Amino acid sequence: MSYLIAANWKMNKTVGETLEYLDIFLPSIKDLKSVEIMIAPPFTALSSASIKIDAYKRENEVNIKLGAQNMYYVEKGAFTGEISPIMLNELNVDYVIIGHSERRHIFGERDDLINKKMISAVESGLRPILCIGETIEEREQGKTLSVVERQLRNGLSGIEKDLPFIDIAYEPVWAIGTGVNATPEQAQEVHLFVRSLINELSKGNDSKTRILYGGSVNDKNARDLIKEKNVDGFLVGSASLDPEKFYKIITETLEV
Ligand code: PEP
Repeated sequence: MSYLIAANWKMNKTVGETLEYLDIFLPSIKDLKSVEIMIAPPFTALSSASIKIDAYKRENEVNIKLGAQNMYYVEKGAFTGEISPIMLNELNVDYVIIGHSERRHIFGERDDLINKKMISAVESGLRPILCIGETIEEREQGKTLSVVERQLRNGLSGIEKDLPFIDIAYEPVWAIGTGVNATPEQAQEVHLFVRSLINELSKGNDSKTRILYGGSVNDKNARDLIKEKNVDGFLVGSASLDPEKFYKIITETLEV
């Protein structure tokens, strides 16, 4: 499977800013076919981004997909402020980020809700990226692998057989938006553990499941991180907001 390099813009960029970004970014990635690129703008910009990307793809060959940063797990109803999988399907969204640490820690999302979202995403034909990762306190207490194991087992409960249609992002909470990335060795240790666990859960049917690393990835550290055997791509926050920096991260992964 090709690497997946995914951009999580979080609560950044208006519709106008999204279109300006794509004007610069889309032509720059025209020749990068061996890597899959995903951009997850805020909900308000998804429709415009989708139209722009589809129009560009009609004329050019680019390997770019659209992602959402979150979703609710039912199709419609009295859930003020939420967005459903069928709304994302209508916009040709391919990926959805589920269980990002900001959803877990700021908005109180727990494993059982995350699991419902994962099931719903898979059933709706969206490819979820399940985010997992420990806090600094958990790491210091030696609980990294047990936290990651709990988040994985709970998040994937009932959909283990669907692992070929799911990607995982290991994002240590202490590395997100802090400028302190996990070292390649720290990432590899957890990725190897995740690989063995999803291998067990999927009964060996996990070869299409990518394990992304996320947490202060930039164009300086991307190459060393991607060299690790079980790092299959990145989920990038801050450094994806600038089209040139994001492009640079992508090309760094191609030169390994
Ligand atoms: C993220 O939010 O998924 C992330 C990895 O952010 P950053 O790259 O800014 O650390």
